[in-house]
Amino acid sequence: MPPTQHKDYYAILGVKKTATADEIRKAFRKAARKYHPDVNPGDKKAEEKFKEISEANDILSDEKKRKIYDQFGFYSDQIDPAAAEAAARGGHGQGVPIDFGGFDFSDFAASGAQAGTSGAQSGGWGGFRDIFSDLFSKGGRQQQGPEAGTDLEYQVTVDFWTAIRGGTTRLEIHRREVCPTCKGKATTGGSHTCPECNGTGQVTQMGGRMKFNIQCPRCGGTGKVTNACPTCHGEGTIARTEHIDFRIKPGTRDGQRIRLAGKGNAGTNGGAAGDLYLIIRTGTNPVFTRQVDDIHITVPVTVAEAALGSKIEVPTIDGRAQLKIPPATQSGQKLRMRERGVSSATQEGRRGDQIVTVEIVVPHVQDERSKEILREFAKLNPADPRETIWAKIGIA
Ligand SMILES: [Zn+2]
Ligand SMILES: [Zn+2]
Repeated sequence: MPPTQHKDYYAILGVKKTATADEIRKAFRKAARKYHPDVNPGDKKAEEKFKEISEANDILSDEKKRKIYDQFGFYSDQIDPAAAEAAARGGHGQGVPIDFGGFDFSDFAASGAQAGTSGAQSGGWGGFRDIFSDLFSKGGRQQQGPEAGTDLEYQVTVDFWTAIRGGTTRLEIHRREVCPTCKGKATTGGSHTCPECNGTGQVTQMGGRMKFNIQCPRCGGTGKVTNACPTCHGEGTIARTEHIDFRIKPGTRDGQRIRLAGKGNAGTNGGAAGDLYLIIRTGTNPVFTRQVDDIHITVPVTVAEAALGSKIEVPTIDGRAQLKIPPATQSGQKLRMRERGVSSATQEGRRGDQIVTVEIVVPHVQDERSKEILREFAKLNPADPRETIWAKIGIA
């Protein structure tokens, strides 16, 4: 039984202790590409390194295993995750030994013998076994069952007009697909002697300064490990870039989520594929501004049109339309054109409005005749438009 020293799995993968599952996955991928035996034929060092990173990934990529490893500094399938969690919560949970540090078995044996001579009862190894039986669950390694694929999320920008009128859009996605060689089983059959325990099924591990034998975590005590599929390197899935075409419903809004069932990452061992979620970002237009189903537009109007009132032509998303400017329309005033907005994607038959903001354009008066008319106009309309401002200030 080769003793297994404490291994710093985080250092092996080159990630921080606080690394997210995604960071661990990426670090492993990167290292695996570098050290894979297929890439380094006959290189013993690379092979060892590859085994090391695979082991680190095996533990850190599994939330339950990682918790146990974080708590005890090593991993064993025989440790009940619940016990690790209780220990992690701090506190001496029910009979869970949380501090192996500073404990040396040789010291214990010596003191136990001493205690024995003075007539006191001592647990000795038996006592420790009792404690460990709380720590270790009875169940052995579980058979790897089907594992569902993860969901994918992509943000897609859809052109302004396509979002309003509907259409199709093409997107390039990177997803994991079932490995064609092993059909997702991660192995092509056959097995070899477990390199971790040299086929014995047991390893010696350190807990603080204490050693004890546990079932080999790599092979689950069988002494054999299955041969990894050469195509997917034992992952069961392979990375693939795919082009997908999908339909955009008329009236699709900014931020809308579209779910494409089964288009996420493939599962392993017959597990279901994840879903693909598309978050729609709608494009902009230089004239129209869309707010949900309403369309906003600013339209320039002449002084005469605004003062006298008029009928003008304005752009809408359906083309030109007539808009009545009432007499005495002010600059900045908003006029609503009912049901000239976007057809709702969620409510059948409902349509948004178009809101027109009037912007009065003051002419550059050049000829004498126009100037004369404006002076005369001023004389006829002596009212001071600033009058109310003074009243509103509150002091004379
Ligand atoms: Zn083994
Ligand atoms: Zn495969």
